[in-house]
Formats: sequence, C-alpha cells, structure tokens
Amino acid sequence: MPGIHHVTAIAGDPLRNFDFYTRDLGLRFVKKTVNFDDPSTYHFYYGDETGRPGTILTFFPWAGAPAGRRGVGETHQTAFRVPLKSLGYWTQRFVEKGVSHQPLEKRFGEQVLPFTDPDGTALALVGVAGIESEPGWSNGDVPAEHAIRGFQGVTLLLDSAEKTAAILTDVFGFREAAREGSVIRYIAPGDANGSVVDIYEAKGFLRGHQGRGSVHHIAFRAADDAQQAEMAEKLVRTHGQHPTEQKDRNYFRSIYFREPGGVLFEIATDIPGFAVDEPVETLGRDLKLPKFLESYRKEIEGVLPVLEEAAS
Ligand code: ZN
Repeated sequence: MPGIHHVTAIAGDPLRNFDFYTRDLGLRFVKKTVNFDDPSTYHFYYGDETGRPGTILTFFPWAGAPAGRRGVGETHQTAFRVPLKSLGYWTQRFVEKGVSHQPLEKRFGEQVLPFTDPDGTALALVGVAGIESEPGWSNGDVPAEHAIRGFQGVTLLLDSAEKTAAILTDVFGFREAAREGSVIRYIAPGDANGSVVDIYEAKGFLRGHQGRGSVHHIAFRAADDAQQAEMAEKLVRTHGQHPTEQKDRNYFRSIYFREPGGVLFEIATDIPGFAVDEPVETLGRDLKLPKFLESYRKEIEGVLPVLEEAAS
C-alpha cells in the first residue's frame, strides 16, 4: 500500500510537545525513545492505537532550538483527517484550548481547518466524509467519534514540481489527481491515511530554513526490504538519486535521500512496527532503547527530562 509512512518534525520543549499532541489533539503516544543519532535527546512518536503507517507524526524535541522559517524546499503543512461532521467539534476545542487556528477554508472541494502547534508547526484538519467508521484512538477526552484518523497528507512548497512529481509517481506509486491555482495534488491508490501529497509551486520564494516548527523529513511506505530495495534501485537508475545505506530504526528500516526540490525523503518499511519491543496495551509507557544503547540506559535517563505519565 503506497503512501506516507510518517512525518518527522522539530519541536522545542519536550513536555509542551507531549502535552499538546496527547492531550489537545488526543493522539496516542506510541513510542518514547531517543534520537538514535543523538541519544541524549528524545524521539517521540504519536499515532493511532498501534501506530499504523500513515498515522505517525514524530518529533525531535530539541529544547532551545531556534525557530525555523518556512519557505521553499520544505514541507509547508501537514494535514490530519477527521470525520467531516467533526470539524465543528474541533473548531470549538481549539477555541477552548487556545490553539492558534485560522478560519475554515476550502481546498480541492474539502473543508480544511489550518492550525499550529506551540512551536509553530503548520498543521491542518481536513474534514473527510465517510471515515466515521474508521477506528479512532480515544484518550478519554477527545471522544472516539471525533478522533483524528491519521494523516490526510502533506503540502510541499517547491520551486518546481516536475522532478519531485516524477519520483512521487514513478517510485512511490502516486498519480496526479487535480490542480488548483499553484497547487498540484498527487494521490496514492487506496484512499487510506497519508495518501495525499500537494505540491505548491512557488518560483522565486525565499528558501526555508529548518528549526523549531519545521518538518525535518517525510517518510514514504515500503512494504518490506525487497520493495525498499526496488525503490532505491529505481531512484538511482532513473532519477539520479543516491539514497543512503539502510538504517535500522527498530520499528522500521529506512533509507534517506534529499529529493530534487530540497525536502529530505525517507523510505521506511511497514515492518516490524511499534509492538516489536512492548505490548500494544502499554505502548509509549516506558523509555525504549535500541540494543546498541541499552548498556547506556542509566546515563541516557539521567540527561532526559522527566515526562508526566500520559493521560491514559
Ligand atoms: Zn523518519
């Protein structure tokens, strides 16, 4: 099943990030681990009950990180799906919780509620009819009927769509579906979570620079190692890209490359998933470390800020 696997962004204060996503948005905290490339900092994963591909938003919380600046060569917005009739509930919730948001707007015929998290990360809720019956994780505060049903997709702000679009369609299985103004919509078959990539073409805009509130990278799905290898081969052969060697991220295995528009892309396997080192019932409760870091657990725990227990 093609589509987005996860989106990873940069946050500031870890506790503020944790509170916003678990309480205000009601996502499940599916994994508490560290950045494998910088184990003195956290890596947080939020998603649905099991953290299915297409529902996972992850953060590198770097306390004191300077604010990013949005611009060309970056992810412009990350959008979640909610049932169409839940947009009223969410608008009211954002007012009550003081979540910074904009008026509802229409995009490709859909109702979109743009908002930002406390670090300025650009997000949106898209009202989608007919997804009421899809399971939604409930933290006991946001009722299950209104819960977020994973990603709708992302908007990339690029100088030019052409080369990026060629990778989306040829390697990741998307197809061009519609155009509206300067935005071209690509969709993956299946109409599942994370099946939309919009490219907003803005020639000559200022380049973005990454910091707090920026998306660090976007990961696309590969079923397994074999499919990932096929995609890598295609990237080299047809698109002149040079993806990295495979890295074991414990919950998936990944390769990375910077796409021609400037955005860091990852290809992550659907397997093995988040229940590989703790049961589904208690996902996110304990600090999980990969084997190569387990012997440093004491030191690592000593430098990480303490989080309160999740609301549920
Ligand atoms: Zn990633």
